[in-house]
Amino acid sequence: MVKADAYGHGMIDCARTLEAAGVAAFGVADVIEGIALREAGVAVPVYVLAGILPETAQAVLRYDLTPVIVDGTSLEALDHAAARYGKPMDVHLKLDAGMGRQGVAPEVLAGFVEQVAAKQYLQLAGILAHFPMADALDTGHSEQVLAVFNQCIDEIRDQLPESCRFHIANSGGLFRLAGSRLDMVRPGISLYGYYADGEAGRSRESGENALQPVMRFTSRVLQVREVKAGVGLGYNHLFTTDKFSRIALIPVGYEDGYLRCLSNRAEVLIHGRRAPVVGRISMSLTMIDVTGIGPVQAGDEVVLLGRSGREEINADEIARWMQTISYEVLCLFGKMNERYYIKV
Ligand SMILES: *Cc1c(COP(=O)(O)O)cnc(C)c1O
Repeated sequence: MVKADAYGHGMIDCARTLEAAGVAAFGVADVIEGIALREAGVAVPVYVLAGILPETAQAVLRYDLTPVIVDGTSLEALDHAAARYGKPMDVHLKLDAGMGRQGVAPEVLAGFVEQVAAKQYLQLAGILAHFPMADALDTGHSEQVLAVFNQCIDEIRDQLPESCRFHIANSGGLFRLAGSRLDMVRPGISLYGYYADGEAGRSRESGENALQPVMRFTSRVLQVREVKAGVGLGYNHLFTTDKFSRIALIPVGYEDGYLRCLSNRAEVLIHGRRAPVVGRISMSLTMIDVTGIGPVQAGDEVVLLGRSGREEINADEIARWMQTISYEVLCLFGKMNERYYIKV
């Protein structure tokens, strides 16, 4: 899964690396992402997973994308486009096996498969579903969704072409529900070094097989100021010094995805040591209290996400401060900052 700009890691660069490593196909959400992959020279199948609008059918054909059908809206347009190009088109069908968001309901699956089969140029190449609670596998819900999926397939198996492929596993399913691997798997967050269930996953899997976070987010100290006790700092004076303090400024703010809700809450790493963010994070500046960590000067590296010495701040920890999940942190930081790729 390289949707959302590869979870903030850069879709094209990640796709090139992953394709060279031998992935069978890519998953994106939108047609526009699929076009970008093709224009970058990606050759393997590209699944457009969020459904498509009829007016994009031509582009789907032209760029040789594989649409995931979520209802009848685009069937006609896809068949038409394929007919115009005179070439058959693979489609995959999304079944709502318990996700409750998108897809064909189990009771109408058989009829829908017939509808697709009746289209001259469309070939049913796959059926998929998605887990809503793969980050909470101990609830047993994913087993239930998998059972519904398997049962639905069994009921229509004689309607399906031999070559039809089945897939359901996201990262959570892939690692923790072996029965969900079927013909293909669709890992997303795990490609980028994180667990679907966040810190719980990391503590469960710690050891040499643990996933390694891919992204770092670093900046540099712009300026260090000495401040007396009792001084209010920054917007709204959200923080007041209680002692003589040294405050470092970094040129990072909410414009860079370092959101305001991290004010007075986040920590960063300087020289391998943790230092707290103090006061309001502003548009382009953030203040760090470096009083307790020895000499710090302009130009020193500040690690907002990643490792410094023996300390590490990962996206799950930042997600906890932001009351969200690592997925959102990675999308934000990656998308809003200059990226450099390092071969390791
Ligand atoms: C995003 C997505 C995935 C990947 O999920 P992760 O939890 O990131 O592994 C898999 N399948 C579909 C349909 C998705 O939209």
